[in-house]
Amino acid sequence: MSDDEISRKSFIMAVGLGAGALALPQLGSDSASARQTPLEPTATCDDGDEPTHSQTEGPYFKPNSPQRTSLVTPGMQGTPLTVTGFVYTMSCRPVNRALLDFWQADHYGRYDNVGYRLRGHQYTDATGKFTLTTIVPGLYPGRTRHIHVKVQAPYQRVLTTQLYFPGEPQNQTDSIFDPTLLMEMSNTPPGRTGTFDFVLRLP
Ligand code: FE
Repeated sequence: MSDDEISRKSFIMAVGLGAGALALPQLGSDSASARQTPLEPTATCDDGDEPTHSQTEGPYFKPNSPQRTSLVTPGMQGTPLTVTGFVYTMSCRPVNRALLDFWQADHYGRYDNVGYRLRGHQYTDATGKFTLTTIVPGLYPGRTRHIHVKVQAPYQRVLTTQLYFPGEPQNQTDSIFDPTLLMEMSNTPPGRTGTFDFVLRLP
C-alpha cells in the first residue's frame, strides 16, 4: 500500500470520525502522524482502491509454464519465500479461478530461459486467495528485487505486473520500480512471507 493510499484511508477515517464527533481529533494537521496510523495486519479490499498498476513483462516471460503453487525444487538455493494474497474486482468481490502466472530469477539473479525453473501458474480459490511457495529472487544488473506475474480473471484481459520488496536499496534507483506494487513482508523463519492483493478492473 502506498503512502498516498494510507493517507487517503486515514483522511476517510478522519472524515468519518468527524461527522459524529463533538470533539474533533486533530487529524490531518501532520502528514507524518497520519502515515503512522496503525493499519490492520491483514490487507483488506477498499471500494476506493485503484486497480493494480501494470508493468512491462520484461525479456524473460515464457508461455506454457507448469501449473504448480510451489516453484521450489530439490537442492534449490535461496531464502524460502511464501507470497499470499487475494485477487479482487474493483468492487472488492473475490475473483474465483483467476490465473496467476509467476516467473522470477533464482538466488543468483538468473532466469531459466531453457526450462521452467522458477516459473509456474496457479488459480485462485473461491475466496480469491492464492499462495505461492518460492525463494527470494536474486538481484541482476539494472533491476531491483522483483517477481513477475500475469494475472487474469476468467475470460478477461491479462494484467502483467511485478511485485517488489520493501527496504531494498535498489528500489531508489530502478526506473521501473513502483511503490504501489510493494509486498508487505514479514520474517517467518526459516524464510520470509510477503502479502499482496491484486485489484482488477473488469468490465
Ligand atoms: Fe525480471
